[in-house]
Formats: sequence, structure tokens, C-alpha cells
Amino acid sequence: MSKNEKKRLLTESRIRNKMTLENFTNEIKKEEKVMPLVTTKKMFEKSMKEHFAIGAFNVNNMEIIQGIVDAAAEENSPVILQASSSAIKYARIGYLKKMVEAALEEHDIPIALHLDHGPDFETCKMCIDHGFSSVMIDGSKYDFEENVALTKKVVDYAHARGVVVEAELGKLAGIEDDVNVEAADAMYTDPDQAKEFVERTGCDSLAIAIGTSHGAYKFKGEAKLRFDILQKVKEKLPNTPIVLHGASTVIPELVEMCNKYGGNIPGAKGVPDEMLHEASKLGVSKINVDTDLRLAMTAEIRKALTEEPSKFDPRGYLTPAREAVKRTVQHKIRDVFGSSNQA
Ligand SMILES: [Zn+2]
Repeated sequence: MSKNEKKRLLTESRIRNKMTLENFTNEIKKEEKVMPLVTTKKMFEKSMKEHFAIGAFNVNNMEIIQGIVDAAAEENSPVILQASSSAIKYARIGYLKKMVEAALEEHDIPIALHLDHGPDFETCKMCIDHGFSSVMIDGSKYDFEENVALTKKVVDYAHARGVVVEAELGKLAGIEDDVNVEAADAMYTDPDQAKEFVERTGCDSLAIAIGTSHGAYKFKGEAKLRFDILQKVKEKLPNTPIVLHGASTVIPELVEMCNKYGGNIPGAKGVPDEMLHEASKLGVSKINVDTDLRLAMTAEIRKALTEEPSKFDPRGYLTPAREAVKRTVQHKIRDVFGSSNQA
């Protein structure tokens, strides 16, 4: 039940029971105890025990945040809201933080606020100092030893402040912010190295490369994920939550809808739902989703603007866009990741 619904029920009972306004205000205050941001620790423990994954959805404005948390709350699912450094640059860190706080006031589900692809120590520190509950340090562009040293530095700073750290080993193909890794250079994660890396850095979760890639053009031919590598990593690191980046489905209907209303996104291809479902069964705890939300929003906006060219109130096209984000997130949580009712 949402906080607003609770408030409505309380108001009704106040009228029924002729409660004094003072008593009523105290009741409301009790009810309004805001759940604080949580780290990913408990949700990951549960995900490893119950074999489901938690969606980590990229945010950069109000409509996206609302669409995601409304869906998660309806599904009674834990959720990770994540912002990349370019999203922080766009939305500004104070706005992001306050909007997520507003979400916490409205809903009773566990919400983590995570830095996606922290490029350096300073960015991680900034987010930790601003109250993020989780950060990723992406040292995958460096060699192994440098990655270990950088990750360890972030872990020490974060853990002293009750914040958890995701690290990355192995390279993904595709484009994430400024990092463009040629597909040919993409390197799968080595399971033995993964074990050494986690032991030496003390990181809380690990992003691995098993064939996913960033962006809307993930595969030229058939989608292929190396589940054998995932299984070996899980054997070596049974208690470390595993993270999958570049894991949007690139939902075909959304691509079609974009193209139908004037878009030009030919040949986009992602990871099919069935594969992501399999990954969440095989020990992946966190699945990142960005591209699908971008597509959902853009498809609806294109449609609204094309169908009603005389309208120019942003709410007219942002309302269906927010609904589309919500529908997309709800589908992932319920049908793909399996985290419904795991809040
Ligand atoms: Zn990523």
C-alpha cells in the first residue's frame, strides 16, 4: 500500500471514530516514518538465496524516477536507482538526491541509490559524501593491478561510511558515457582472476563480462551469453553478488514505434528476456537497464508529438512517456528478473 493510500484510510477512520485533530496528526506522523535509503546488501543476500535478480535502472529526470519507483512499489519489489556521472552532470546531484528522497517518502519498498560507472575515486567520493548508498568504481579500463589498487581505495573510503561498492573486471563492448570499447577488444572475465580480485579489493559486488554490451546495438548475429563463465565465477565466488551490465532487451516493439514515428534506429538488438531470466536464475543479482527506458520514453514522445502536432504542453507527452517507463520496468521486474514481492 502506498503512503497516500494509508493517509486516505487514516482520514476515513478519523472521520468514523471522531478522532481529534491532534490524535490524528500523531497517527499520521507515526505512519509517515520515511524509510531511509538502503544499501544493496540485504537485497543481494535475498536474491542469491531465492535466485532472482534486482533491476538497476538508470535515472536522470523526474519522470523516469517516478515511472521506476511506481512500478517497483506496485510489484512490491526492491529497486536500485542508478545515475552515471553524465546523468549527474545533466540533472545535478542535489536534484537527483532530493527526487529520490521524495520517492522514499511516497513508498515503503527498499530503494538503493547507486553511482553507475564511477570513472575515478573523486566521483565516487562525491557521491558517497552526498549520501548515495552504493557506488561503482569502474577500473576495467586499467590493467589488473591498477584496477585492484583503485577499487581498494574506493572500498576503504566507502566502507568507512557504510556505503557498498561494485567493481568491474573484464571489458564490455559498446558505449557507456565516454568509454568506447571496440567489440574486438571486449574481454570475458577470467573466473580465477575474479576470485583474486574480490579477495584483494573487498568489493561488495562484481560486474563481469560474459558477452553483453552497452547501447542499443549489442549483437550483430544471434545474441550469445557465456553462461559457462558465469557459472564458473559463481563456483569461485558463491557469496559475491554478480552484476550484468549492458543488459537491455532493446525491446523490438519500442524500436519499431520509434521508427514508425520518425525515428531512425535500424538494426538495434539486445539481450532477449529469456536469457536475462536465465541469468537471474544462475546467480546474477543485479541487472542494469538504461537503453530500454530511453527507448520507451522516446517512443511515446515521438508518438504524441506526431499524432497531435498542434499540442505543445510538455505534460501532454511526458505523461504517456512516464507511463511507458513504468510499464517497461514492471514487465522486467515481474516477468524477467523475478523480484516481485521480494521487498
Ligand atoms: Zn554499464
